[in-house]
Amino acid sequence: MKLVRYGRAGHERPGFIDGDGNIRSVVDLIEDWDGEHLNAKVLAKIARINPARLPLVKPRTRLGPPVARVGKFVAIGLNYADHAAEAKLPVPKEPVVFSKWVSCIQGANDDVMLPKGSRKTDWEVELGVVIGRRARQLKRSEALSHVAGYCLVNDVSEREWQTERGLTWDQGKGFDTFGPIGPWLVTADEIADPQQLDLWLDVNGVRMQQGNTRTMVFDVATLVAYCSTLMTLEPGDLITTGTPPGVGMGMKPPRFLKAGDVMTLGIGGLGEARQQVRAYMPPA
Ligand code: ZN
Repeated sequence: MKLVRYGRAGHERPGFIDGDGNIRSVVDLIEDWDGEHLNAKVLAKIARINPARLPLVKPRTRLGPPVARVGKFVAIGLNYADHAAEAKLPVPKEPVVFSKWVSCIQGANDDVMLPKGSRKTDWEVELGVVIGRRARQLKRSEALSHVAGYCLVNDVSEREWQTERGLTWDQGKGFDTFGPIGPWLVTADEIADPQQLDLWLDVNGVRMQQGNTRTMVFDVATLVAYCSTLMTLEPGDLITTGTPPGVGMGMKPPRFLKAGDVMTLGIGGLGEARQQVRAYMPPA
């Protein structure tokens, strides 16, 4: 199933995409697509219902992030060898784990706002993994059975804050709007192999990133198991698994985002997203 949350920001409601591409509402069945409901039992119950019996949502309704109340937004760095090379960093021997503040999460097609004074905001198309069962100290062989589904993520990054101003990367990774996810969460049963997915990202229609998850340094199962040794993973937690080459920081000369730029990105089987970049605006 392709799970979605539709409606205006902060007031999204749960649904899914039916076989004809329409949004069907499940508001009468569950509260929301959050950790409490992203489990095999609830998903099986909803899969058994004939979609035609569920309310149809108006086409072109805004899609918010497909998961509500994400508890942790864990990110993996340098997980494609060719991206590590463009970042001029060695291929890691162990996963590089950092964090994005959950307040940066937004819908797949919402605008991305440049941080105040930013000169080095950059893009990163990535495969996101959403946890469906509590996980601690997993073996690699147990890891994928704890995954509820997969989604498209743009790990938007401010390179000056990430690499020049702070001792951790986190300072450049979690600005408001830096976590577009979706359009939908594709349940794990629909993704036969998470290591065979094409990913791409264009800026203003020009291809910048192109890759496939088969060239990850650490595969999804290894990453989920590894993270479960660092923390308890809860249903609804999101792990974003690193980006293939082609980010702006690696270009000669470097190419960063400016107001008016448009990022379009996608992953085979997980849908596409479009994000317009806008200038910093102080809070109202
Ligand atoms: Zn990243």
